[in-house]
Amino acid sequence: MAQKDSGVPISVSINYFGDPYFDGEPIPTIAFGTNPIVRCKDCRAYVNPFIRFTDGGTRWICNFCSSYNNVENYYYSPLTSGVRNDIEDRKELQYGSVDFLASADYMNRPPMAPTFLFVFDVSKSAIDTGYLQIITASILKAIEEETFPGGDRTVVGFLTFDEKVHYYNLKSTLKQPQMIVNTDDDHDFLPIPEDLMVNLADSKDLVIELLTQLPVMFADSTEYDTNMDHIIKSIGILTKVTGAKVFLFESSPMSAKFPHLQVTQKPGVKDRPELLKPTVHLFKNYAVELSHMYVSIDQFVISGHNTFKNIATMSDLSRYTNGRFYYYPRFNSQMQGIKLDQEFYTALTVKSAWEAVGRIRVSGGYRQISTLGNYLVKMRTQDLLCLPVCDEQRVVFYEIEKAEQSMDGPKKKQTYTNSTDTHVFVQTALLYTSPEGERRIRVHNLAMPYTDVATEPYEYSDVNTLAPFLLKKGIDNLETLNPNFLSTRSYIEMLYSNIAGSLNRLYRNNLPESIDYLACYCMGTLKNEIFSPSQNIQANAYLDWINFLRFQLRHMNADEVMNVIWPQIFRVDDEGLSQENLPSLLNLSRQ
Ligand SMILES: [Zn+2]
Repeated sequence: MAQKDSGVPISVSINYFGDPYFDGEPIPTIAFGTNPIVRCKDCRAYVNPFIRFTDGGTRWICNFCSSYNNVENYYYSPLTSGVRNDIEDRKELQYGSVDFLASADYMNRPPMAPTFLFVFDVSKSAIDTGYLQIITASILKAIEEETFPGGDRTVVGFLTFDEKVHYYNLKSTLKQPQMIVNTDDDHDFLPIPEDLMVNLADSKDLVIELLTQLPVMFADSTEYDTNMDHIIKSIGILTKVTGAKVFLFESSPMSAKFPHLQVTQKPGVKDRPELLKPTVHLFKNYAVELSHMYVSIDQFVISGHNTFKNIATMSDLSRYTNGRFYYYPRFNSQMQGIKLDQEFYTALTVKSAWEAVGRIRVSGGYRQISTLGNYLVKMRTQDLLCLPVCDEQRVVFYEIEKAEQSMDGPKKKQTYTNSTDTHVFVQTALLYTSPEGERRIRVHNLAMPYTDVATEPYEYSDVNTLAPFLLKKGIDNLETLNPNFLSTRSYIEMLYSNIAGSLNRLYRNNLPESIDYLACYCMGTLKNEIFSPSQNIQANAYLDWINFLRFQLRHMNADEVMNVIWPQIFRVDDEGLSQENLPSLLNLSRQ
């Protein structure tokens, strides 16, 4: 298929830690014992259902680079009609997604324990929102119901902060938690980190005592100031050895007075689109450092007022550590308490991969041309993604394109797909530590068939992935080129026009059913507030809101994006509404 002639972009939505099997069976685990995992000697692709065995089972041909690999003795099986005799026992040759157990070669330190650090803003305005009772109750519930991931291996720690940072010694031999107050950057007096980050099972009573007491201890807080710089450094000190999933709760309106979050006023300037971008790189720099220490930060910004928080800058801490970000403007615990509780509880208990890195491979002759999502490329690598804590809902979109064969330079090894091949292959690999402490590699494989018929890519294309892909391309354009709404909308229209132009040439007035809705989805995309804001861009709570929306859309999966650009409603006027009997969903276009 001539991809560019057909005009259809190839995008893949990758859920690195996803488990695609829905029949209740866990993803198959493949163990090679002390032998190495079978991989291509040239391109390092993992063994998968699309490789071909040849020469009586003594060699295999890589589906990515067409190299011939010798089959080692421990993996040899004779063939019958080209199929291995042991195929029934080889799930890695039958299933598209598997987990390989990794040997010591894949570790540069012992596998980490699931480690959680909770960081609470206890300034007066934060306490006044009532959030602390909700969150401490939620953590106590997870302890009581044993829903913390990791079981007996779980490690926890707590920090609270206003202008000072408070550490908590939870050593299991203590009778009660000890608070240590740090008023400056001198951390020499701190107890050893092992007493601050403790095994939950060993120190369970102390942790329960602390969580019960925290809302009481700070109920009469009178301190307004907070020190963001100080707290981020403290997080680094507690997590640098082990790595961790950090939950950072921030609420004080004074944080916007933190010098690095302040925005210079420009009287008389009505529209400031440059504020769509972070105003300083400090938070990204912190995040890059933390990410390489296997630290991920989930931020909960709970604003009791309608004040500007500079979320474009603050959210970099989560964006580049593969964390989540939640924003609750004008928080009212009566109205939004349940939402905060449920979102936090989900983020706390979701199954996660720890100290993870991920990479994609595509067939020779194709190349990955863009990556869309909240991610960080590991230092000194081209394409290895740092995903310190990667849960099953994290999604990255990739764009793939057929590479033009260069006529210049010395002739390289032939890596272009030969004419006998029938598919474009994609393989992703996530090297991670399981909550149980096993080092594993989760591998997903995908095969997309070639076709000579230019119309077929449209007939089989998934518009419910294509439309979210166009939206994410639009976000990328807005953030990496010029923060200009008009040119970004034109860019999305151009992407759509390229597809529509090809469609007109191919189909005239007989469009395939799958494409019918694409124009409508693009209209929904263009009208979204992140591309068509309803106010001028100024340093205010509205700017925070659309910067928050953009953060969410960057890492949403295709279904979640579709809910945003093609919203649906419940009809409740003539049907009884109950938990068990929800009315069916209707499109918003319905009269
Ligand atoms: Zn290969």
